Amino acid sequence: MRLILLGPPGAGKGTQAVRLVAAHGIVQLSTGDMLRAAVASETEVGLRVKDVLAHGELVSDELICSIISDRIDQADCAKGFILDGFPRTIAQADALGELLEKKGQRLDAVVQLKVDEGILLERIETRARESAEIRSDDNAESLNKRLAVYNEQTAPLIKYYSERNILMSVDGMKSVDEVASKIDTILSTV
Ligand code: AMP
Repeated sequence: MRLILLGPPGAGKGTQAVRLVAAHGIVQLSTGDMLRAAVASETEVGLRVKDVLAHGELVSDELICSIISDRIDQADCAKGFILDGFPRTIAQADALGELLEKKGQRLDAVVQLKVDEGILLERIETRARESAEIRSDDNAESLNKRLAVYNEQTAPLIKYYSERNILMSVDGMKSVDEVASKIDTILSTV
């Protein structure tokens, strides 16, 4: 199974992805996690993207698409994957479509987590407080930037995938378990 989890920062994509990994034996491909790992280990890519991440902006489509293309080729992705945080622009969605076609693969579903933006800041602040991981972008200024970037560059993907009849929406304001069960119901139909 190959799916995309779509939603603004703090919508619960990462939480749901972890549950889906356990339930379906597929891997989670979180571009945010990959980039943070690169920053932490100070690789060439990490040094290039460090400031971009800290400011809540997007790294280039070219860079992220090449990272994803290489990652999908790895053996653990053979059974399927959950894209968490990718694609984030129309250009990335086009590139994903092309690269999957070249690899003879196709997407099964795009699951949109619909959330009330008003409470996102609260969720992110809680995550920052409770997480052992320090994220350079979990602060009010970066979050506002990330939400603005989401609305401007990523939200158009809702229409993009809806027009391709592959989008399914879930109320992301419900409890983690309720959202998970709704996603499972959706996935049982694809
Ligand atoms: P996330 O953990 O998904 O919120 O991503 C954290 C940060 O990584 C984002 O604010 C961006 O700076 C960068 N990032 C993650 N995924 C992408 C992507 N698909 N395209 C561009 N930048 C990304």
